[in-house]
Amino acid sequence: TLKAGLENKNIAKNEPAKPVVNIPVNRRKEVQESRLKLPIIGEEQIIMETINENPVVVICGETGSGKTTQVPQFLYEAGYAHGKGIIGVTEPRRVAAISMSKRVAMEMNLSERVVSYQIRYEGNVTDETKIKFMTDGVLLKEIQKDFLLTRYNVIIIDEAHERSMYTDILIGLLSRIVPFRHKRGNPLKLVIMSATLRVEDFTENNRLFRETPPVLKIDSRQFPVTIHFNRRTPQDSYLHEAYRKICKIHRMLPEGGILVFVTGQQEVHTLCRKLKKTFPINKTESSTQEKRKESRRKLDKNRERAVLPNINLDNYSVAPVDEEADEEALDSDLDLEENEPEEDIDCKDVESSDAGSCTEPLYMLPLYSLLPSHKQARVFEDVPSGYRLCVVSTNVSETSLTIPNIKYVVDTGKVKTKFYDKVTGVSTFKITWISQAAANQRAGRAGRVGPGHCYRLYSSAVFNEFEKFSPAEITRRPVDDLVLQMKDMNIDKVVNFPYPTAPDVEQIEAAERLLVSLGALSAPEKIQRFRDLKKGFVHKITTLGHAMACFPVSPRYAKMLALGQQHDLLPYVVAIVSALSVQEIFVENFKPSSEENEKEEFTKKLEHMKAVKKLWAGTGHSLLLGDLMVLLKTVGACEYEGCTPKFCQKYGVRMKAMKEVRKLRAQLTNAVNSVIPNANICIDPKMKPPTDLQAKLLRQIVLAGLGDHVASRYPDVIPETSDGSEKKMKNAYQCPDLEEPVFIHPTSVLYKEKPHFVVYQNIVETSKLYMKGLVAIEPEWLPVFAPSHCMFSKPLDEPAPSFDEVKGEVMCHMNSTFGNCSWTLPAVEL
Ligand code: ADP
Ligand code: MG
Repeated sequence: TLKAGLENKNIAKNEPAKPVVNIPVNRRKEVQESRLKLPIIGEEQIIMETINENPVVVICGETGSGKTTQVPQFLYEAGYAHGKGIIGVTEPRRVAAISMSKRVAMEMNLSERVVSYQIRYEGNVTDETKIKFMTDGVLLKEIQKDFLLTRYNVIIIDEAHERSMYTDILIGLLSRIVPFRHKRGNPLKLVIMSATLRVEDFTENNRLFRETPPVLKIDSRQFPVTIHFNRRTPQDSYLHEAYRKICKIHRMLPEGGILVFVTGQQEVHTLCRKLKKTFPINKTESSTQEKRKESRRKLDKNRERAVLPNINLDNYSVAPVDEEADEEALDSDLDLEENEPEEDIDCKDVESSDAGSCTEPLYMLPLYSLLPSHKQARVFEDVPSGYRLCVVSTNVSETSLTIPNIKYVVDTGKVKTKFYDKVTGVSTFKITWISQAAANQRAGRAGRVGPGHCYRLYSSAVFNEFEKFSPAEITRRPVDDLVLQMKDMNIDKVVNFPYPTAPDVEQIEAAERLLVSLGALSAPEKIQRFRDLKKGFVHKITTLGHAMACFPVSPRYAKMLALGQQHDLLPYVVAIVSALSVQEIFVENFKPSSEENEKEEFTKKLEHMKAVKKLWAGTGHSLLLGDLMVLLKTVGACEYEGCTPKFCQKYGVRMKAMKEVRKLRAQLTNAVNSVIPNANICIDPKMKPPTDLQAKLLRQIVLAGLGDHVASRYPDVIPETSDGSEKKMKNAYQCPDLEEPVFIHPTSVLYKEKPHFVVYQNIVETSKLYMKGLVAIEPEWLPVFAPSHCMFSKPLDEPAPSFDEVKGEVMCHMNSTFGNCSWTLPAVEL
């Protein structure tokens, strides 16, 4: 039953009740039957009444209760997309936006022209679209163009519990847009949906909504899930522990799908492959249905009596993944040729257990957000009969996707999270414990079809130490892109924005400082160390800033685009920025394995990749453009040769990433043409590599965008250190914001070159601090292209050298007119 938030004292009955129109939907019989099983269906009436009578409604319900698939349908049937205006649904993940739009279209028996999606690079929205699923970033961009969101009658903010940065900002903005629309007599409904009950940041926040929105709680028809804690918590071998646990479950427990949570794509593949080796698909066996049934009957008998004992842990090293090969293997699924004997040292102790051995294959499916969409969709398809489903997933299936027929959850308790230094922006991927809320979400996945079991690979003592909830994203990352977007919407006092959870003032200050140095925000007079910020002084957006905000990339890259219109550099800058904005283009981020043959193959592959990169980097300025030249050539070659599996295999390039790069490149080309008059660029499939001069100018443009990301090499031996001893700093670099030395990442083409000065894209922390995405620069360029980041030992009598003056060379010009505005860099602070 619903407690229709009626416990909230004053429900705002101030909305004109929307006349309930009944728009018929012709669902197929099976769909109708499966809908009726969802807990949310019985609550349609009260949900719709509450939405009709209130401007803002919060709906909480367990994952799988039917929020995402059903609420848009309720609204559609009640006429919210009838006539003008449509229903918008935002998702923090692209996977969810695409798969949910397809699912809802299917359930409603409507075409994808009517129930559509839009993500950063693609979509199928048409004039007929009535329900539009999109990522939260897409809606934010729309608000910039149309603050009142006049196209929409309802906005559903889904997965609000995830607290993604854009979701938070959208809720803040909508808290202002909704009353505006109400005043105009054209109300916009806001529905916030959450998988947890923790919604106080939205409801009890008096900066957000004037009247506390009603909270509807959907009682889920969740079956009991028995939680099994490990007696001991593995130190660093959770993957191995997961492997053993799955072997045990598969061998000893009755049928039912297994869902395993690990932290990343590489782990997903490693585990999938290991399990496929252990439980191979044996063709002779699989053709003998009878034999199979017999063995299942026997096993089931054993399993019924079996109890899962706690198992010991060994060290486990992550094996390299030949991703393409692995994906191919997955493609052929049941026709898998591999017929290896069921030997696996890691599994010995499991085999010797009294349950006997099981020769049944597991139907292994990987799931992570970078997996191609059609492969992601497989988790919703039927499992071939006689097989046990085993999904190895990252936390995408924690709340956004409900995988059917899961009975056992194996929870490593780990998640990979990107941590940023809020001020320096140094990012680290760390594997950490999840929150208690996340652990409970994961466990809940086992109780959708019947009573289930969740095996937590950590002790209850450790669980009690977990954070209660995961923190909001906005408090954990740099906010420069966000601040630029907000300033572009004329929200000048970013500090005063009604955030559900506010970022730190230092985060905002760091962002404003960066944007001022890029010329996106005004720096009236001298930069006053940002004391003024607290006095209510605001940095206003400049014309350049408005232009930069039109590019859907980080402000640093937007600046590079803005500078590109000289010496025919724009197409190159667009290609480079597209490649930089997509993560992990190359398949090279796996650790060497301990297994000899794999190690050898892996080393061979790495050597090959190195050779390819070296070749692409070339010589002269081309080589000095470093990793960015490699990216540029990769983009060019891919366009020239075609983005085929063969191309990707040959050069160790990730196909899905390359496809994204192509889409982003097309999108940026359009954006550049509309923002920069006379730019007139197009995507040339036969783009020539840049000339030596162009490569040099590109290096300068990169420096102009990343002036705060400069590092200089320490002399190999620093004679005196604080303790007086001689300290070797071989190959170490120094960068302004960090005390610790940083190093060139071994995958960089400049690894052996060791230039004196470099610009890096980002610093990642693994065993050391490593710089990635490097370009070599000349120190004399610094006062020209990054003056606000320079320190001068004595005041300059003259202004900083002008752009054409250094050594009488051709230099990239920075103070030219851009579009229809002219701008210059901020004054040099001495
Ligand atoms: P919630 O948003 O509350 O987590 P959903 O609306 O996403 O719930 O899911 C409701 C039900 O629909 C779940 O049981 C889920 O398994 C099913 N479902 C969702 N998407 C698909 C799909 N693409 N194919 C099959 N079943 C699906
Ligand atoms: Mg959902």
